[in-house]
Amino acid sequence: MLDRVLQEIRARQRFVVTSHARPDGDGIGSALACGQILRVMGKDAEVVMHDGVPRIYQNLPFADRAIQADAVPPTDAVILLECDSIKRTLLEGLEDSFLINIDHHVSGRDFGHINWIDSTVMATAELVYRLARRACVPVDAHIATCLYTALMTDTGSFMFAGTNEHTFTVARELVLAGADPALCARHIYFGHSTAKLRLLGAALSNLHREGPLAWIWATQEQMQRFGAREEDCEGLVNYALSIGDVQVAIFFRELPDQRYRVSLRSKGEINVSTVAEHFGGGGHKCASGCSLDGPLAIAVAKVVEQLRSEAATNTNAFTR
Ligand code: 5GP
Repeated sequence: MLDRVLQEIRARQRFVVTSHARPDGDGIGSALACGQILRVMGKDAEVVMHDGVPRIYQNLPFADRAIQADAVPPTDAVILLECDSIKRTLLEGLEDSFLINIDHHVSGRDFGHINWIDSTVMATAELVYRLARRACVPVDAHIATCLYTALMTDTGSFMFAGTNEHTFTVARELVLAGADPALCARHIYFGHSTAKLRLLGAALSNLHREGPLAWIWATQEQMQRFGAREEDCEGLVNYALSIGDVQVAIFFRELPDQRYRVSLRSKGEINVSTVAEHFGGGGHKCASGCSLDGPLAIAVAKVVEQLRSEAATNTNAFTR
């Protein structure tokens, strides 16, 4: 598939690179690196994101070149990274474009004209890295920084299940290419806003427990009170997962239309991607997401019920 992707890229000149709305580190890092790799290949490439680059990723190389837009400009092909559908980008105008879909989610779907989906890798960044290598594009310190940040964030700082010696081999190569691990970590983990920490405090004060489950939430009113943005919600769920006897943590974020965005995280025994898929979302075994109608109590009840039945397939999970 990599050769096929390369062949389709070589046959075209103008590219748009994008990822899902509310992009995470892998979405942003992979897209910025991919855009630059295409430019080094002599292509015209624009990184276009519906939601722009979140604050903690704005220090990444090429971030200032990314375009925030509602629709894609005219182009020969669009490379979608980390998406299971056109809809995930929230961009308009993709239907008529030639689509190259590159993803690493188990819930990935063949919606593109070319689909390179490899769920054995920990981050889409690794596929982009392979693309650069196969295209003989030198991975310089800037590209390496984007890819390392993507890998670091999608592996939960190399802590999530699935992280193995191969992940470290890729990380090592990126560091050798010039990525600075301490600097990458500082921008992401020590670059939060005050509003985010205040929101975290409010969310944790609502912590609920049931057996191996923990859940927290944030409301629109709290977000407005603290001046928190959507992107300030990224990672809050991990604080609930950090409790010793918690197997699965859930974060519910109220949306302006009273629906709820749900982030699910697992330490590995319970598969949260099947739960997210049940509600029309997706993701990985240990990290997934979906959206549900409110009110909060109903959304919580539905997700918790689904997790109970998922945990029942692992008889030990609820008795520990
Ligand atoms: P997060 O909780 O950080 O929003 O997402 C965790 C993981 O699940 C990410 O890999 C993300 O791409 C995936 N994910 C989150 N929401 C959705 C969704 O609505 N649909 C799909 N297919 N994947 C999602």
